[in-house]
Amino acid sequence: MKATIIDGKAIAGEIRQEVAEEVQQLQQRTGKTPGLAVLLVGDDPASNVYVRQKGKACQNVGIHSITEHLPADISQEQLLKRIEAFNENDRYHGILVQLPLPSHIDTRKVLEAIRPEKDVDCFHPFNVGRLTIGEPLFQPATPAGVVELLQRSGISPVGKHVVILGRSNIVGKPLANLLLQKSPQANAIVTVVHSAADDVAYFTRQADILVAAIGRPEFVRGNMIKPDAVVIDVGVNRVPADNEKGYRLVGDVAFDEACEVASHITPVPGGVGPMTIAMLLKNTLLAFKLHLEHGES
Ligand code: NAP
Repeated sequence: MKATIIDGKAIAGEIRQEVAEEVQQLQQRTGKTPGLAVLLVGDDPASNVYVRQKGKACQNVGIHSITEHLPADISQEQLLKRIEAFNENDRYHGILVQLPLPSHIDTRKVLEAIRPEKDVDCFHPFNVGRLTIGEPLFQPATPAGVVELLQRSGISPVGKHVVILGRSNIVGKPLANLLLQKSPQANAIVTVVHSAADDVAYFTRQADILVAAIGRPEFVRGNMIKPDAVVIDVGVNRVPADNEKGYRLVGDVAFDEACEVASHITPVPGGVGPMTIAMLLKNTLLAFKLHLEHGES
């Protein structure tokens, strides 16, 4: 095997440690604790797992968190009222609504109800706009996790051709915006590829840094990767497997093949996934600091 594995779990561990230390320092200075409110609507099993992971991660770094589990048939009005209550509650500096929401609820309206200074997922149009003009308040967790992984692995995107597969509002688009910024951690030449591309490999073979975020198991094969490229695999896909769970997780990249071509690669699991939660913790800490600054000014 040729590629160096980028250990997202270890890097996320470093970030959690840094967050825990800062939380403690701020607590000693102010007597206050950062807080995150998570709203979970319905009983989607995957959402349940994600929410539990987030709650546990908060606990481990000293962030106070609450999960409000709401029934699947909650009305939009009732849900908006709960968000408003957390907007007004000074104990919670970050608010997160776990997606997806049931189909009778207008997700856009719900995300827009979160006060931008508490929008730790960075989904509010105000925060998306600030990101787009290069003045982000928050950075969305998964894309920020990708940038941080590169930085902490000593891989500079400056002047490199980054090809991103996928243009979702959660990963592809905000990642393109982050990497375009004229900053030492970014400043890349960015191409975003989506399902209208006739020949995806034509683009991927030009990438110095290839990011796959399409949700297609092992779509990126070894022969689609430029020799010595850095490969970041955001995809998380369940494929049937002969084990207790009946499935295993694979990324959007055929890992073994890619390892023979790439210089660096993130595994699935253990790559981008752990970074997403670590960056959420970082954003909650940032929301807390914004709250303190506001109170002190
Ligand atoms: P999404 O909303 O479904 O978007 C997928 C994107 O990929 C779309 O832009 C789509 O193009 C594009 N696409 C799909 N098939 C394609 C193909 N054959 N060729 C070129 N482009 C194609 O997905 P998402 O929410 O961004 O998530 C992507 C993957 O990342 C999923 O596996 C998800 O589970 C994973 N994910 C992981 C994390 C993490 O923390 N590790 C966080 C978020 C997401 P169109 O726009 O043209 O339809």
